[in-house]
Amino acid sequence: MIKENILAIHGKLPPEVKLVAVSKFHPVEAIREAYAAGQRVFGENRPQEFAAKVESLSDLDLEWHFLGHLQTNKLKLVLPYADLVESVDSLHLLDAIQEWGKANGKIVRVLLELHIGAEQTKQGFHEEEALDILFNAERYTHVRFCGLMGMASHTDCEDDIRADFARIADFRAYLQDLFPELSDFTELSIGMSGDWPLALDYGATIVRIGTAIFGERQY
Ligand SMILES: *Cc1c(COP(=O)(O)O)cnc(C)c1O
Repeated sequence: MIKENILAIHGKLPPEVKLVAVSKFHPVEAIREAYAAGQRVFGENRPQEFAAKVESLSDLDLEWHFLGHLQTNKLKLVLPYADLVESVDSLHLLDAIQEWGKANGKIVRVLLELHIGAEQTKQGFHEEEALDILFNAERYTHVRFCGLMGMASHTDCEDDIRADFARIADFRAYLQDLFPELSDFTELSIGMSGDWPLALDYGATIVRIGTAIFGERQY
């Protein structure tokens, strides 16, 4: 099934859009199965699980994205291995990543997570906060700002989802105009199992898909 799911999604994704297979809560065997179907980019949202999977799959050439809430005392589980941290959602975390990068001689590639959904609980920056950060981007010598990530409202209402995607897409375009010197600020990570086809209409460069590849998660 995993293979068929991946091939079906790739069949509908424009070639320039990156598919992140979100493997959280699924065993490494599922990741190996996806790998055999050609999938190379995987996403996890819990530091411990992330580090364990990176380690047990170190024989494969994988690209790893971290996309969950990251506490600053867990950085060492994630930052040495993550090709992209998609879920930077607080100034405190960003500052800690900068410090870690400096101490470890690594430039950490990140997306700023923007709060776009209707849910109160969703993590992420408001537009003004993201702006403030990018106005001070030169302070972050060990962080590379690569774009925005967002999660649309959890709803069946297509218009609401489209409004969320339009908002983050417009904001990315605005930031790109405002900060042309941030030449890596190109990614727009929107779209999950339930809404990724819509995200393509708004210029998604990354889609993050779990359930539609691996099936329901057993929590
Ligand atoms: C779990 C998760 C996904 C994948 O969700 P599905 O609905 O299973 O596709 C995408 N993005 C983030 C940030 C996640 O935590």
